Amino acid sequence: MIGCKDCGGVLHGTLGITRSLLGVRILSQGAIKQRLEICRTCDQSTPCKHNKRQVCRCNACGCWIKHKTRLRGESCPENKW
Ligand code: SF4
Repeated sequence: MIGCKDCGGVLHGTLGITRSLLGVRILSQGAIKQRLEICRTCDQSTPCKHNKRQVCRCNACGCWIKHKTRLRGESCPENKW
């Protein structure tokens, strides 16, 4: 599934990935890194198949972490960031 279970489904997820890829309304590198660090140690994150040291999906919302953490206006479904 591309979309986010909690926040609007496939359309929301597709728009978010598109914004992330185009660099539209993204956070500073420092803020993104801070979010990623939280996701890396979260029990809801799923390791990437190609690199187990990275995290790919959030089990709580279904989002792709590398895109979700870049976007202004996104929030953690468990209020961790
Ligand atoms: S978005 Fe929140 S719940 Fe999901 S992996 Fe990151 S910290 Fe965990």
